[in-house]
Amino acid sequence: MSDKKQVMVFIEQSEKKIGAVSLELICEAGRLAKKLSAEVVGVALGYGIGEELAALGHYGCKTVYYVEDERLSHFTSNPYAKSVVSIIRKQQPEIVLFGATTTGRDMAPRIASALKCGLTADCTELQIGEYKSKGELFENAFLQMRPAFGGNIMATIVSPESFPSMATVRPGVMQLDTPDASRTAEVLVEESDLSDEDFLTEVIEVVRREKTVNLSVAQIIVAAGAGAADPETLALVRKLAVTIGAELAASRPLVDAGLLSHDHQVGQTGTTVRPNLYIACGISGQIQHRAGMVESQRIIAINSDPDAPIFRIAHYGIVGDLNAVIPKMIAAYKEKA
Ligand SMILES: Cc1cc2nc3c(=O)[nH]c(=O)nc-3n(C[C@H](O)[C@H](O)[C@H](O)COP(=O)(O)OP(=O)(O)OC[C@H]3O[C@@H](n4cnc5c(N)ncnc54)[C@H](O)[C@@H]3O)c2cc1C
Repeated sequence: MSDKKQVMVFIEQSEKKIGAVSLELICEAGRLAKKLSAEVVGVALGYGIGEELAALGHYGCKTVYYVEDERLSHFTSNPYAKSVVSIIRKQQPEIVLFGATTTGRDMAPRIASALKCGLTADCTELQIGEYKSKGELFENAFLQMRPAFGGNIMATIVSPESFPSMATVRPGVMQLDTPDASRTAEVLVEESDLSDEDFLTEVIEVVRREKTVNLSVAQIIVAAGAGAADPETLALVRKLAVTIGAELAASRPLVDAGLLSHDHQVGQTGTTVRPNLYIACGISGQIQHRAGMVESQRIIAINSDPDAPIFRIAHYGIVGDLNAVIPKMIAAYKEKA
């Protein structure tokens, strides 16, 4: 166990590639660690990924505890959870962060249950701050914020009396810092204490469904809402996206109606995006949609209702019918391009 406090990040890897969410969490862990005078450490499982793990130092990770075992090349619930529990017991970190991915959502509750500690799922903001309970003051409590009751309130969840505090965070939510290639992480290979009986399932083949769109890295996004649900209007929105070189996204009603795949959905139950430009076409701007795009650098909203909530967060608002506004935008863009 290190004599310094630790903020630990579970490092996701698939086919020797580190998950983007793990890099985001290392950066966020760095911000939390600063307030706790702690260091950022990672816990990783796999085989033959030592070099990739050392590069996590670029993002501020000091040490990676690495259980190297060929049987851990692919994620399976039981052995992964058991290995992470054993590293947490050994290192005693203050905080442990997981991506709210299928892997993180599978593992984190198993680990919390084994350690009998608090876990908050799907956090959108993390802070270190004061917390008072039953007359007791916790000075450096881990405050875990997440939308609750269908996104109508933001709840702050604290579990200062259980140890460690754990949270899952959705991909794309935390800011990725610029990497510093001069720093590398120390990779400490840990003994695997797994027996063959721990492997209850065997991965025979990994079949990948290619994403139709990757919104989390898009710099320009044109998003269609229920106001663009008819085929002609949706075709216009798509044309705008193609013209300006943007990715096409959608609000949930379009996805629920089967007009676009779930990969296109932005929001609480879709992807979180931070593009340079987000053009919302016929989107009212309900909290569940805003949660996924409010961090965009510039937001343009087009809506026929001047009171639509989207205008409250838009940098530029156009009140009008999409069928009238979009052709003018396309013509103006082509004229200037
Ligand atoms: C648990 C939960 C999770 C959710 N997750 C998500 C999520 O991840 N993402 C998400 O988007 N939603 C999500 N929702 C749904 C969310 O609450 C809203 O219902 C949804 O965002 C509304 O989508 P919209 O703005 O496209 O549709 P609407 O609210 O119906 O708005 C359509 C807008 O289009 C405008 N309009 C109509 N015709 C035109 C036209 N011709 N020209 C210009 N403007 C026009 C209207 O004025 C209106 O403002 C979730 C809901 C719940 C309960």
